[in-house]
Amino acid sequence: MMKKVSISSPAFCQMCLSSWEQMEIFRDVAELREGIDRSKFSLGLVPTMGFLHHGHLSLIRTSKEQNKKTVVSIFVNPTQFNNSEDLDTYPRDLESDIALLVEEGVDFLFLPNTIQIYPEGFETEINTGSVGERLEGVHRPGHFNGVSTVVCKLLNMCAPEKVYFGQKDAQQCSVVMNMVRDLNIDVEVVVCPTVRDSDGLALSSRNIHLSEKERESALLINRALYHALNEWDKGQSDAAVLKNTVEQKILSNSLNKLEYISLANEMDFIEQAQAMPGSIISVAVVVGKTRLIDNVVLKWR
Ligand code: AMP
Repeated sequence: MMKKVSISSPAFCQMCLSSWEQMEIFRDVAELREGIDRSKFSLGLVPTMGFLHHGHLSLIRTSKEQNKKTVVSIFVNPTQFNNSEDLDTYPRDLESDIALLVEEGVDFLFLPNTIQIYPEGFETEINTGSVGERLEGVHRPGHFNGVSTVVCKLLNMCAPEKVYFGQKDAQQCSVVMNMVRDLNIDVEVVVCPTVRDSDGLALSSRNIHLSEKERESALLINRALYHALNEWDKGQSDAAVLKNTVEQKILSNSLNKLEYISLANEMDFIEQAQAMPGSIISVAVVVGKTRLIDNVVLKWR
């Protein structure tokens, strides 16, 4: 097969040219629009902040199954970080990301810089309303306005038929679906299941920051959530009881600091007193210095 990677920056050429799949890399919006001729094929978009893992790859594989072509974006969006240290320490490894994407057979990579996304004079922002002000929104004020704004821009730039998000960021999925509905954006939002490591920890780019001891402590997050699922399956519906079991288990290791625990409606994230099928139990836990989120959805029993 012909080996080809088109790229607008020479820095990555050597590595990419040795690969055998074809992937075009765009750093510029105009090039992207010209390079992706949307009249010719169905397109799936997978927005990411890079440092790719199997969670991201599952979204990419689903997009490849459902569309003729797939575009992945990598952009660490500053406006969704409300803590500059968090932004500065966000893990990055572009070379490894590109190698993974080439291996996956991704067609296009969009790699904008901050100026491309937020040029001088940029002022417009999406306000996500009440759903974005709960849970994550309480602890990361403005986070979802930043997410929605950048997702809206990426949708406008790439014009995909489908866009892919992970259930791990369940509230983000809701916020994006609301935005797409409210602003009549012509795209289908596809939510893919959370991918976990063999020990159950939800994959996250931030897991790289965990020491061995912190990782051991972080495992209590998924174990606590699955324990609650089990209690629900056995007949427990009292939200306070379910939340309490999760909280106790997570806090059984002093490295874990619970930021919030919620049992809420999966669509609007309004807290519920009684769990029901479709309720979602979500947590944010700071393990050492690393902030992790996870959730499980209650099924019919
Ligand atoms: P991020 O790079 O963290 O912004 O994530 C990009 C996309 O990958 C988002 O839609 C996330 O929800 C999704 N994602 C991240 N981790 C996982 C995971 N463990 N399983 C499934 N999807 C994930």
